[in-house]
Amino acid sequence: MSWAAGRVRRKRGGVVEVPGDGCVFCAIAEGRADASVVYEDDWVLAFMDLQPVTPGHLLVVPKSHAEGLEDLPEEVGARVWRAAHRLGRGLRLSGLRCEGVNLFLADGEAAFQEVFHVHLHVFPRFAGDPFRIEADWQVRERRLLDETATAVRRGLAALG
Ligand SMILES: [Zn+2]
Repeated sequence: MSWAAGRVRRKRGGVVEVPGDGCVFCAIAEGRADASVVYEDDWVLAFMDLQPVTPGHLLVVPKSHAEGLEDLPEEVGARVWRAAHRLGRGLRLSGLRCEGVNLFLADGEAAFQEVFHVHLHVFPRFAGDPFRIEADWQVRERRLLDETATAVRRGLAALG
């Protein structure tokens, strides 16, 4: 994914300055690092991404640290989603160019997660914008889809 590759370069370049040790999003949530905050409640904070893919690019984070989906309580995840849902609707009324909205969450290094504090990207889309996702979008056979569905159901059952 070309967009993610660009983000890896910028973050490794040390753009994000964190006072002391630790997590930049915890630092923002605790007021130890600057951010342009657009929404806050008891559980969730939303602020502008430092290097937006389009103007209006937001990050929605839980205030309490969770590295990824595995250690994020589902009820907190629901609150993150609720805020993102509302922010996405707000972007369309903001006056910023916004013909569509993407919500994007990277869980794990292989998924291009770069800051290991869960964050949901919410950003405006418009015709000709620079965001790209490259993938092999072929239609697959039903038999293969059914086999894959079986594996996913097995994973769900393992969660208990
Ligand atoms: Zn954190």
